[in-house]
Amino acid sequence: MLHAASGVEIVTIPCLSDNYAYLVHLPGQDAAILIDAPEAAPVEAVLDERGWSLRLILITHHHNDHVAGVARLRERFGCAVCGPAAEEAKLPPLDQRLSGGDGFGDGAGRIEVIAVPGHTLGHVAYHFPEARAVFTADSLMAGGCGRIFEGTTAQMWDSLSRLAALPPETMVFSGHEYTASNLRFALSLDPQNAALISRDEAVAEARRNGRPTVPASVAEELATNPFLRAGTPALRAAVNLPDAAEADVFGEIRARKDRF
Ligand code: ZN
Ligand code: FE
Repeated sequence: MLHAASGVEIVTIPCLSDNYAYLVHLPGQDAAILIDAPEAAPVEAVLDERGWSLRLILITHHHNDHVAGVARLRERFGCAVCGPAAEEAKLPPLDQRLSGGDGFGDGAGRIEVIAVPGHTLGHVAYHFPEARAVFTADSLMAGGCGRIFEGTTAQMWDSLSRLAALPPETMVFSGHEYTASNLRFALSLDPQNAALISRDEAVAEARRNGRPTVPASVAEELATNPFLRAGTPALRAAVNLPDAAEADVFGEIRARKDRF
C-alpha cells in the first residue's frame, strides 16, 4: 500500500504458512527496508520484480519464523541488520543493537523503536511516524495479540497500551495471518459489538479472496480487539471481572484465548 502524504510504499509479503514480512520503500530510493525475514525467497522475488535492492533488515524478535531468512538476504545484498539488543544472543549477528526509545533516520524514513515485551522479553515494534505505520509482529496483532511466552501479563498489557496510544490512523502491520481465528474468539466475548461484527464479515470476505487482512488501523483495533478493550464494561462483564484492574482483565482474556 502507498501512503500518499509521505510517499512511503509498504509491500506485504506472505511467507511460510501464515507469516508476513514487509518491505518499506521510501520515495526516491532504490533500496528498501525489510521488517522481519521469515524466509528469503519470497522477499527476493518481490525485490527482483520491483528492481529494488535491500539496505536494512529490522528484526522484531528472535523466533525462527521472523529471522530464518536473514543470513541469505544479508549475503546477497550486504544489507545492515538491526534488532533488539536484549535478544542479541539469540539473533543473527547485528550491525546495530536497538532498544525501546531509540530513533534514527529522518523525514519519511524516520524510525522509532518501541519496546513491546511479553511474547518475548526483547520484542520491539518499529514505528514510522511520517508514514503512519507500525510493525508489531507478535505483540499487537490484527484482532488479537501474541501469546505470552517469556514476559508477564503486566508487561504485555503495558506493551499493548503503548501501541494503542499511537495516532489512531496509524496502520498496524502484524506478523501473522491469524485474524479470522482472532475474531472468532473476540466475538465469543463481545458478540454485540457492531464494529467487530462488520470487521469479521470483511475479514471473511478478504480470506475468501486470498487477500491479507493486515494492516488495520489503531482506531479499528481499539474498536474491535478484545485485548485492547479490557477496560470496557462489555469485556469486563464477559469475563466476570467488573472491578478488577485493566491489566488483570487483560490477563484473564489472554488466558481464555490460550484455551479457546
Ligand atoms: Zn514469535
Ligand atoms: Fe511469529
